[in-house]
Amino acid sequence: MHILNKSDFIHFRQCPSSLWLKKNKPEVYAKYKKADDPFLENLAKQGYAVETLARTLFPDGIFLDEHDPHALELTKKTLSTHHTFFQPSFSANGFYARADILLRDEKNETYHIIEVKSSSKIKKDKNHSHIEDVAFQAWVLEQAGYTVSSMSIIHINTAYIKQGEVDVKKLLTQTDVTEEARESMKTLVPEIKQAFDYIQLKDIPLDSCQCLYTTKSNHCDTFSYFNTTYTKQSVHYLIDIRKEKLKIFLDAGIHNVVDIPITDTLNNRQASHVLSAIHNRPIIQREDIKEIIDSLVYPLYFIDYEAVSTAIPIIDGTHPYQQIPFQFSLHILNKNGEITHHEYIAEELVLPDVLVQTMKKYIGDTGSVVVWYETFEGSRNREMMEMFPHHLDFLADINSRLFDLRDIFYKYGYYIDYRTCGSTSIKYVLPVLCPDLSYDTLAIQNGTSAMESWQRMITLPHLERNILKKDLLAYCERDSFAMIRIFQELKKLTS
Ligand code: SF4
Repeated sequence: MHILNKSDFIHFRQCPSSLWLKKNKPEVYAKYKKADDPFLENLAKQGYAVETLARTLFPDGIFLDEHDPHALELTKKTLSTHHTFFQPSFSANGFYARADILLRDEKNETYHIIEVKSSSKIKKDKNHSHIEDVAFQAWVLEQAGYTVSSMSIIHINTAYIKQGEVDVKKLLTQTDVTEEARESMKTLVPEIKQAFDYIQLKDIPLDSCQCLYTTKSNHCDTFSYFNTTYTKQSVHYLIDIRKEKLKIFLDAGIHNVVDIPITDTLNNRQASHVLSAIHNRPIIQREDIKEIIDSLVYPLYFIDYEAVSTAIPIIDGTHPYQQIPFQFSLHILNKNGEITHHEYIAEELVLPDVLVQTMKKYIGDTGSVVVWYETFEGSRNREMMEMFPHHLDFLADINSRLFDLRDIFYKYGYYIDYRTCGSTSIKYVLPVLCPDLSYDTLAIQNGTSAMESWQRMITLPHLERNILKKDLLAYCERDSFAMIRIFQELKKLTS
């Protein structure tokens, strides 16, 4: 018999077939499962950190490790001797629950369940509802013979501003959800049972799955297991594809980008994508790119920030999930082709005042400031304007001079290459334009790892920081240098 826990149930909600595969063919599922997304991994770590912090609100609590092979018996044994429990485990009739925090009311022999969430609010959407999470746990507890009197959710209060030691009572908010959770059980319980029955099935149809008609952002890792004929050249990868158009193609038997007829139902970028796939080369609008490049003012400042954002604020004066830049890399390209490089990385947990001061040293009054994905750097600049009124003029001026290099590939679609698989992330565009340069050789290869590495780095004594610091500098340097190289390639193409 396959056991069903809360995570399984959430998985079932997202996709019954995928859960079935995980339970019934774990070796196949593992083969298709991509390495954990660093962003999701970080989210899980933040969740764990918040749960650990929430426990400090209950000093009498005892920790019952759910990974202990005897966790269930241990919980049973301890329930009558204590009042507050962290991670107690329960199971009944094939269902399993693990409460984040459980309080026992000795007088009535009833229990209060608390779910701890690192989110800024209680999620109630159909795909993942926090109310249903706690209802799931309560239902299993009741199946195991315990009486649940109340349920609540602890989550982050985003209005909290850290000053000194984190004030846990102000950072975390507890909301009673007993009524809503009870109400949700009416529809939830039949669905939980349905999920349980589904994973016990000996077989399910494996020849295709229901995401065939949805765009690739909806596909899970096992899409290619259920749809063996689909590759990175399938119509799902067409730039800007929406599900209505996808359906038209699939129903007409068009499965690959190269087979899409070029008609006026395609936008310009899509038409270029199809042409690129057919001719196996990029489709470049040279005149338009030249016009943009010629409009830029030298010197060109190619800049990239790395920023940290955590559920539990780590820097005084900041709130949960605030993005705080801690590093920049700046390449300056002069009209004569000369390149200089400057960089900065914070060595302690401080607001980015010195970071801006350092930028001021190198960024002059004239010249375009080139970034990749303007929303990120532009937003950080706006936030820093609020933090530091004394840097307002400088940062506002930088923002008025921003040029988003990605726009050539994204907004304008003047350079489209099918090999980027419809993505305009610099990590996809760089190897296509500059195959000799990539991120693969770097120890840090994405922003989330940079954020985590920096948090680790600043906890080390100064003498032990060198390796991490070097890796962080190398990663950020690659981002701004990648922009310069892409820019130079575009310039070559248009001269
Ligand atoms: S891609 Fe297929 S297996 Fe994955 S979630 Fe969608 S329907 Fe399920």
